[in-house]
Amino acid sequence: MADLPAREAMEFDVVIVGAGPAGLAAAIRLKQVSPDLGVVVVEKGSEVGAHILSGAVIDPSGLDLLLPDWRSQDTPVRTAVTDDRFYWLGPAGALRLPNLLMPPLMSNHGNYIVSLGLVCRWLATRAEALGVEIYPGFAASEVLYEDGAVAGVATGDMGIGKDGAPKDAFTRGMELRAKYTLFAEGARGSLSKALIEKFALAEGREPQKFGIGLKELWQVAPERHRPGLVQHSFGWPLDGSTGGGSFLYHFDDNLVSVGFVVHLNYANPYISPFDEFQRFKTHPLVRDTFDGGKRLSYGARAITEGGYQSVPRLAFPGGALIGCSAGFVNVPRIKGSHNAMLSGILAADHAAAALAQGRANDELSAYDAAWRGSPIGRDLWKVRNAKPLWSKLGTTLGIAAGGLDMWANTLGFSLFGTMRHGKSDAGSLKPAAGFKPIAYPGPDGRLTFDKLSSVFLSNTNHEEDQPPHLKVADMEMQVRSEHDVYAGPSQRYCPAGVYEWVEDGGAPRFVINAQNCVHCKTCDIKDPNRNITWVPPEGGGGPNYANM
Ligand SMILES: Cc1cc2nc3c(=O)[nH]c(=O)nc-3n(C[C@H](O)[C@H](O)[C@H](O)COP(=O)(O)OP(=O)(O)OC[C@H]3O[C@@H](n4cnc5c(N)ncnc54)[C@H](O)[C@@H]3O)c2cc1C
Ligand code: SF4
Repeated sequence: MADLPAREAMEFDVVIVGAGPAGLAAAIRLKQVSPDLGVVVVEKGSEVGAHILSGAVIDPSGLDLLLPDWRSQDTPVRTAVTDDRFYWLGPAGALRLPNLLMPPLMSNHGNYIVSLGLVCRWLATRAEALGVEIYPGFAASEVLYEDGAVAGVATGDMGIGKDGAPKDAFTRGMELRAKYTLFAEGARGSLSKALIEKFALAEGREPQKFGIGLKELWQVAPERHRPGLVQHSFGWPLDGSTGGGSFLYHFDDNLVSVGFVVHLNYANPYISPFDEFQRFKTHPLVRDTFDGGKRLSYGARAITEGGYQSVPRLAFPGGALIGCSAGFVNVPRIKGSHNAMLSGILAADHAAAALAQGRANDELSAYDAAWRGSPIGRDLWKVRNAKPLWSKLGTTLGIAAGGLDMWANTLGFSLFGTMRHGKSDAGSLKPAAGFKPIAYPGPDGRLTFDKLSSVFLSNTNHEEDQPPHLKVADMEMQVRSEHDVYAGPSQRYCPAGVYEWVEDGGAPRFVINAQNCVHCKTCDIKDPNRNITWVPPEGGGGPNYANM
């Protein structure tokens, strides 16, 4: 690539990577505090919201702080939670847990059911009205450094062929240079991952943990719609040693968001999160909801689950991590968007103050020092043992102990101190020899579906003639270990059917259908040898979610 033309450069005060709730909140706050700042947001989706997938029941604390007038505006935040239910599921029955038993922090009273993608689109209009420049369709593919400090990012070149050579439509990427760069890439951000490694930001912290969340959006028959109903479950169809559960949210005009999260520390390589989700929808508690309805959309995305003890150091010379690039999800509440926004606001305040003092490209260490004492730290502190207890004790005991500990923390103490997560999710997978393949029921085409017809509903599209964005470091190891020892779990954990093992002249061959990738990042997290790295494909590629 040495003979490519030099990149053009643009200078800003602050560059923000990612137009999710964290990045947009940071952009808005910067312009509220210092209207003259030059602020740009780059977003790899073809438009803002195209790559956003969430539940979502949102705690409005982030919005309240950022845009206190939002309740009087025309926003996509329309359905208040009116009924909040939590169930344990068995194969045929369901047990509702009384709301009185639930720790108060689990209550959804005062929260709203939304499409987070639509909320981001609306936030983008507010940001642009304040003078923020937003560039959708551009993936930040490289961090720029100057004297060891981050000095901005470069967007990827467009129009490079599979063979690495420029095609007729070749356009060189741009350098977006900044005094401070905020990384708001969400769970398992590719540049954030590299920064965490380069600046050893995770040193002394527990490993980050993740789940994979799969979601469908349905339009249901009007008589089945219960606007404001929020329903969560745990138990069936997962076995007692695999963490996860479902969500079902009724909102807007006859819409239902239904989804399933599987914690990625599962051990059995035969587990297929996609098929667990499809099976869940057949449970008697929920199946009638979809009678006479229509599935509108499908997608999947990793969610951070490490919580308080896994948050890396947030600041490094020239930049900072915000939102789920750092991992601020409150796991038992399944909520991260409020903390994403609050961390964007906090980082923006510190960046604006530093710029006002004439500082540039140094470390915003006061931002890192501030989050634990902020509402984000208080939110995560109380639930810090919920995930480790679930992982160590299994579903029933783990949830009971986690509930007790959350009650205790509400009163100001903990029964367990601060527990550790231990292994990474990649390290939790065990060899296939210890397990039997799982026979999942086939799709019926009405309530349950196959992967390919599902991916079709995500409107995923990638330019086919481009370098691979799913990089297998050592193909020989993939055969020897991922295939031979672990029975090819990528075929099952990938929610988009990207990975296949096929017989080729008597030998296994790894096929990568990269054009189907919905950018969930699970392969980058769960491959047992960490042999797969996800890098951004050409900007604009990936899913085109309308309202997930
Ligand atoms: C299935 C599921 C259900 C959830 N349910 C809820 C819920 O009910 N309530 C709740 O509050 N939270 C929920 N969450 C968590 C919530 O969605 C996240 O905490 C929140 O979206 C994090 O915001 P973010 O801005 O940090 O990242 P994201 O929302 O992930 O946004 C990141 C943005 O950055 C872009 N991007 C990434 N890398 C690059 C790059 N290199 N260049 C350019 N652009 C890039 C992405 O395309 C994306 O638009 C859920 C998550 C999942 C997966
Ligand atoms: S290839 Fe990886 S990032 Fe893409 S959909 Fe499959 S698991 Fe997710």
